[in-house]
Amino acid sequence: MNGAGRGEREKIRLHVEGALGAGQEVLLPRDQTHYLAHVLRRRPGSRVGLFNGRDGEWRAEMVEIGRAGARLRILERIAPQGAPPDLWLLFAPVKKTRTDFIVEKAVELGAARVLPVRTRFTNTERLKSERLRARAVEAAEQCGASWVPEIAELAPLGALLAAWPAERQIFLADERLAGSGAPVFPPEATAGPAAVLVGPEGGFSDEERARLHALPAVRPLNLGPRILRAETAAVAALALWQARFGDWQGDSAGDAPSTGGEEGER
Ligand code: SAH
Repeated sequence: MNGAGRGEREKIRLHVEGALGAGQEVLLPRDQTHYLAHVLRRRPGSRVGLFNGRDGEWRAEMVEIGRAGARLRILERIAPQGAPPDLWLLFAPVKKTRTDFIVEKAVELGAARVLPVRTRFTNTERLKSERLRARAVEAAEQCGASWVPEIAELAPLGALLAAWPAERQIFLADERLAGSGAPVFPPEATAGPAAVLVGPEGGFSDEERARLHALPAVRPLNLGPRILRAETAAVAALALWQARFGDWQGDSAGDAPSTGGEEGER
């Protein structure tokens, strides 16, 4: 396999902020040093993959673990910069651990942006977006993505809809369709810029539902005969979209190793 082959990635992958290039050195911050040295027990000479969302993925070697942190030397680029399909996830935050779950799964399932929205029946007023960003970084490191989706600040659904880009279809997971016999995707659904919208545990209000269905960009999504929890609905909707319109088809510039095999154990 040649050195730039996508099947030869490192098992340990870390997201860093700075630029990446051959011969450069990277000093890891304390939390990543701790993770590498004490949790994973890696020593100088160990190899790790590095990515920053811009420069592709690079192989690096640990030089030393100093007081300031672990110092790594960058060796070579092992994968080009990947990108997720143009898919956003809009969801109404639920309880903390379930919201973390939604963000993690959105990264694994290849969402490009994650937008928490406040709806009529959302019972969350504040959201620690820094914590959600940290979850997104961890998920990207773990799942092989070389990008980290943007996590937007919590915003009212109405405001987002008022400024909605007309060409971006909204795949609305509407619980009223449960058991209706409606198709999963309506016939007018097409590929192209998309967003999946999932409501809170209390569902959408009648006003929200009416407003949404009146928008030309909205494509109602039927997630089957049972009422799903919000986090299940988010996972199901993202997976369905990826399988139908996204990068599960194998011909995209996504991030999965193209050779399959070794990396599947996590
Ligand atoms: N309490 C509401 C259900 C809310 S479920 C009720 O009893 O009606 C939370 C969110 O998951 C919903 O707003 C919707 O976006 C999504 N959802 C759950 N089940 C669904 C289904 N079968 N089809 C489409 N969307 C669904």
